[in-house]
Amino acid sequence: MYIPEEYIEDIRSRTDIVELVGEYVRLKRRGTNFIGLCPFHTEKTPSFNVNPSLGIFKCFGCGQGGNAFSFMMQIENLSYPESIRLLAERAGVTLPENEEDTQKFSEAESVYHALRFAGRFFYNELTANEQGRPALEYLYGRGFSDKTIKKYGVGYAPDEWDSLLKAAHQKHIAPETLEKAGLVIPRNESEGHYDRYRGRVTFPIFSHIGKVVGFGGRILKPSDNQAKYINSPETQVYHKSKVLYGLYHGKNAIRKKGEVILVEGYTDVLALHQAGIEHAVASSGTALTEDQVSLIKRYAQRVLVLYDADSAGAKAALRGIDLLLSNGVSVYGLGLPDGEDPDSYVREHGGPAFEDYAENNKMDFVSFLHAQAKDRGSLNTPEGEAQLTRKVIETIAKMPDPSMFDPFIRKASHVLDIPDIRLFEILDQVLRGKNARSKGRKKASRAKKSNSGSEQSYQAPPSTAAENFSRERPDTVYYSEADQEFEEANSTDQQMIFEEPLPQEKMLLRIMLDHGIPMVEYIMGNMALDEFTKGPLQNSISHILELYEKEQVTKQPFVDGSFGVRIQQLATEILMLRYEPSENWERRQNISIPRFNQDPHEAAYSAMKQLKRRRIEQALSNLKSRIFRAQRQNEDVKPLLEERMALLQLQKKIEDPDFLAWS
Ligand SMILES: [Zn+2]
Repeated sequence: MYIPEEYIEDIRSRTDIVELVGEYVRLKRRGTNFIGLCPFHTEKTPSFNVNPSLGIFKCFGCGQGGNAFSFMMQIENLSYPESIRLLAERAGVTLPENEEDTQKFSEAESVYHALRFAGRFFYNELTANEQGRPALEYLYGRGFSDKTIKKYGVGYAPDEWDSLLKAAHQKHIAPETLEKAGLVIPRNESEGHYDRYRGRVTFPIFSHIGKVVGFGGRILKPSDNQAKYINSPETQVYHKSKVLYGLYHGKNAIRKKGEVILVEGYTDVLALHQAGIEHAVASSGTALTEDQVSLIKRYAQRVLVLYDADSAGAKAALRGIDLLLSNGVSVYGLGLPDGEDPDSYVREHGGPAFEDYAENNKMDFVSFLHAQAKDRGSLNTPEGEAQLTRKVIETIAKMPDPSMFDPFIRKASHVLDIPDIRLFEILDQVLRGKNARSKGRKKASRAKKSNSGSEQSYQAPPSTAAENFSRERPDTVYYSEADQEFEEANSTDQQMIFEEPLPQEKMLLRIMLDHGIPMVEYIMGNMALDEFTKGPLQNSISHILELYEKEQVTKQPFVDGSFGVRIQQLATEILMLRYEPSENWERRQNISIPRFNQDPHEAAYSAMKQLKRRRIEQALSNLKSRIFRAQRQNEDVKPLLEERMALLQLQKKIEDPDFLAWS
């Protein structure tokens, strides 16, 4: 799919990257940047930066970086064209579309289209069709208003085999597309398909960015041979483990409160939202997954798990607690009075009463585990008690922040009525077991690394290191190529070893990106390509030279991933830095630190000088060991000594103030 550059530029300029990233990461202003916890790796102190004026983001923890498009690609797992489409929609930019485009439209888009269509169809059947009347009565009976039904797109699938198929046919949506969307099922005995949802109230499941990805269906007339609830199967757009029901509508409330209420079913979520408690979500009947936890973490650091003791969901909730705590999320539990579920509770008492109840009755997770064990009757035996103790300590041991151990052990001591010294002993045992395991893993991975990479990184001098980096690059950059590279960079067995570029060369790259053609002329008039460290940095420089030939040096292709993900990561890092090399560096080099707010010529001059000095020093020390070796083996050292002389002369020349001034 070809999207003209003007459109992309238009979308980019209309997209506020802080606002966009802010939908996933809680950001705080720090100077010109915004900073938050990285959504791409687990961290406790924020190293994820967003720069609104450059329109880029960069994580100094894991290296991810790029612009709005690459952010969406990475966080939503989209292709480049998909990310453009999504941001276009968001920015209200209409992309060119003709018959041909529509056909080539990615398969995912047509699946989304089918799901949207089905959502509207079911909603109409519920609200505007006589057939849907009993379903509507049922929903009214459960206290749902027209407004809620509309907002959450609740619908009704008629009790027929092909009502959706027929309606879709009229809109030229093929049965195969409906099948890919999980809406129809192919017949076994004969040709054709039949509707998956029949005689059911339907709840569209929205992704957290508001796309319908699937449906939950609740049966209207209970029957023995049919499940009360059915869900969409896994499709290319619906991954049960990555979706939380209610998150899309509750996102803002969740962010504001910093808290998520975790409930069991669709109707619980709807009832709570309708009562004004909009930070409730459900995990569609499964135990909480790692993906769901990281989704939660984007918006909140506290989870209130609501459970009703008799339900199967309580068990699932329990498994979720470990996962939440081990990801650094605080967990509280709340049991409702006997016989009540969230739905019935708010219908009877209203939202504010629910909030009061929650505030007064929520338990930290230790008390929560204890209360659940008690409810199950498992504290009646010494074995049951020991089991609970072990479980509590194991859960505490999973917390990533060791400063939490103390208060929770004390709490556990109180709740379980066991001296804390005894609990610390158990914690110690558990932790030692855990460390032994993780040490084993680390050792293995270190061994693996040294097998694959130590040779090049040990032997090769800086600018000649990583000789194996010779990936060919086509002149034209195809998005698929960047995509491919992106995938490669993310797969673990594809780790090339590069020298880390020196601060001075990063500085030179930045100056060229910031100031364009005049500084490219000045710097590249004084530097050779192979004076730069091989790998992404040297490649960036050669891209700059290519762009220079075309008289269009801009940062955009560097940060948007057009030159591949490694260059993207390097460029975002460099552009984000308020480049201030360490004082140490200044002292060592006896040269004033170039700063970005100074004259770019001066900054470039001093960076080049230091870089050249550094390269010569490296070459000299390299030479020294070669001379030493040659002498030991009684070889002729004369050529080496000549080389050394030349380098020493060059070194002197560099200190001459006129050096570099010839351009
Ligand atoms: Zn990161």
